[in-house]
Amino acid sequence: MLRFYVCRGTHHEGNFEVHEIHKEGCVNLPVEGDRVYLGEFNSCSLAENVAHQSYDHVKCCLDCCPECKVR
Ligand SMILES: [Zn+2]
Repeated sequence: MLRFYVCRGTHHEGNFEVHEIHKEGCVNLPVEGDRVYLGEFNSCSLAENVAHQSYDHVKCCLDCCPECKVR
């Protein structure tokens, strides 16, 4: 199981303000206070579901979720 966090901050992607999801230990993980703990999951898609409850547009970080690059 891995701990997942979502950024409070956003970055522009197309017409959207996207919140990025990170795994614990990611080099891009925001400092405490700029992130929201999502929970422990076996896959980032479950973390995405939880993040979607708070934010309309979320995506996984490509550095810590390389498996998401293929989507
Ligand atoms: Zn990351």
